[in-house]
Amino acid sequence: METELNHMREYYEGGYTKEASWREAQLKGLRSFIIEKQEDIMNALLQDLGKHQVEAFRDEIGTLMKTLNLALKNLKKWMSAKKAELPKIALLTSAEIVPEPFGLVLIISSWNFPFGLSLEPVIGAVAAGNTVVLKPSELSPACSSVLASGLATYLDHKAIKVIQGGPQETQQLLHQRWDKIFFTGSAHVGRIVMSAAVNHLTPVTLELGGKCPAVVDSLSSSWDIEVAVKRIAVGKFGTCAGQACIAIDYVIVEKEYCSKLVELLKVWIKKMFGENPKHTKTISRIVNKHHFFRLKNLLADAKVNESVVYGGSMDEQDLFIEPTILVDPPLEASIMTEEIFGPLLPIITVGKIEDSIKFLRSRPKPLALYVFTKSQTLQRRILSETSSGSLTFNDAILQYAADTLPFGGVGESGFGMYHGKFSFDTFSHHKAIVRRSFLTDFWYRYPPWTLNKLQL
Ligand code: NAD
Repeated sequence: METELNHMREYYEGGYTKEASWREAQLKGLRSFIIEKQEDIMNALLQDLGKHQVEAFRDEIGTLMKTLNLALKNLKKWMSAKKAELPKIALLTSAEIVPEPFGLVLIISSWNFPFGLSLEPVIGAVAAGNTVVLKPSELSPACSSVLASGLATYLDHKAIKVIQGGPQETQQLLHQRWDKIFFTGSAHVGRIVMSAAVNHLTPVTLELGGKCPAVVDSLSSSWDIEVAVKRIAVGKFGTCAGQACIAIDYVIVEKEYCSKLVELLKVWIKKMFGENPKHTKTISRIVNKHHFFRLKNLLADAKVNESVVYGGSMDEQDLFIEPTILVDPPLEASIMTEEIFGPLLPIITVGKIEDSIKFLRSRPKPLALYVFTKSQTLQRRILSETSSGSLTFNDAILQYAADTLPFGGVGESGFGMYHGKFSFDTFSHHKAIVRRSFLTDFWYRYPPWTLNKLQL
C-alpha cells in the first residue's frame, strides 16, 4: 500500500492534477460513468439496500449529475485567484487568495448512499486538483464493486484509486500520511479518524450523524397539515427507510395535537407504501442482519414496545421492517438516546410547542433540525436558541440537494462542510498572496524602536 501511495504522491508532484484540463477530464469521466453505468448503479443499490429506482435517481444519480454539471460549469471560476482588499497604507501592493490542492487525500464513506456519499466528495477533491483514495463501505459491497471498477475505467487510475475493505483496511489506510481526510460515518469511528490524523496534523472533515428531530407545531389548515405529514413520512420512511443521516429521527409535538398527527401519518404511510409495504418494494430494506437486529432490539424493551401505535412487523429473511410509529417511549430508552437509522418513528409529546426548545437544547446538536410551523415567533426562537448543522422550516431533506448551501454538522454531528463550491473549498488550501513593490518604503517600520514611531 505504501508503495502505491508513494507513486500517487510522485504523480501529484508532477503537477498533472493541477491542470484545469486534467480536472475537467476527471469530472467528465465521472459524468460518463454515471450515465453509461446507470443501470449497474441502480441494480447495485437494489441488491445492497433494496432501494427503489426512483429513490436511487433522486438521491444519488440525479444529485450527482447536478453536482457534476455545476462543477464543470464553474471549475475555472473556482480555480481562479480572488483579489483581496488591502488597507490604503499598503501603497503599491496587491493581494489575492489562490486555492491550491492539498495533495493526496483520503475519502472514507458510508453505505446508505454509497454513490452519493463517495462521489460528492470525490468531485470536490478532483475539481480542487488532488489525488484521491476512496474507501467505500464494506456494508454495501455491490455498490463498492461498481465504484471500484467504474472509477478505474473512467478516471485517471494513477491519481484516483478505490481501496475496498472494512475496519481493518481502513485502519491500515489511517496509518499512512495524508494531506486531508474526509470521513462520512459514525461519531465513534470519527473519533478514531481524528486520533489517527493527529500524527501528521492532517486536516479532517467529519460528516457524522445523530438524532435529527422534527418539531411539529399544531397547524390549523387541513392543507398545511397534510403537506407536513407527507413531508415527514417521506423524510423518514421514504429516504432509504430512515437509514439516512438527515432522515427524521423523532418528532416532537404538543400532546393535544398528537392523535391527529398519528392518524394522518397512518393514512399517508398506507398511501405511500401500500397496505402491505413488504410487497410494494417502495421502501428500502435494512442493510444487513446486524442492523436488522439492532433495530429489533430498540423495540425489545417492554415499555418501548407498548408505546408502538402503528406497524412493528418485521421479516428477518427479507430484512424488512414496517414503517412503525411509537408515542412517548421512555426518554432514557435506547430508542431515544441512540441514533435510530431505520423506519421507527418515536413521537414525543410536550405541553406547549415552545417546550421543544428546552428539549432540543438538552441533547447533542443534530446534523439537521426540521420545524413545521407557520409561527414567525417560533421560527425566530428556534433559529436563535438552538444549534444544528442545518435548519429547515416546513420540509425535510431538501437542504441536501441545494448546492448553494453548505452541508455539514456541528458538535457531535461533525465539522467541516461540502456540496457545490463548498466541496471545492473543503479540498483546497486557500493561499494568501501578497505582491509588493520596491518603490515605496517607510522608515518607521524598522527598529530601533523610538516612541515617536508610535505616534505616527
Ligand atoms: P461507520 O462509522 O461504522 O463506518 C463508516 C466508515 O468507517 C466505513 O467505510 C467503515 O468501513 C469504516 N469503519 C468502520 N469501523 C471502523 C473502525 N473501527 N476503524 C476504522 N474504520 C472503520 O458508519 P456507517 O455505519 O457506515 O454509517 C452510519 C453512520 O454514519 C450514522 O451515524 C450516520 O448518521 C452517519 N452518516 C453521516 C452522513 C453525513 O453526511 N453526515 C451520511 C451518512 C451516514
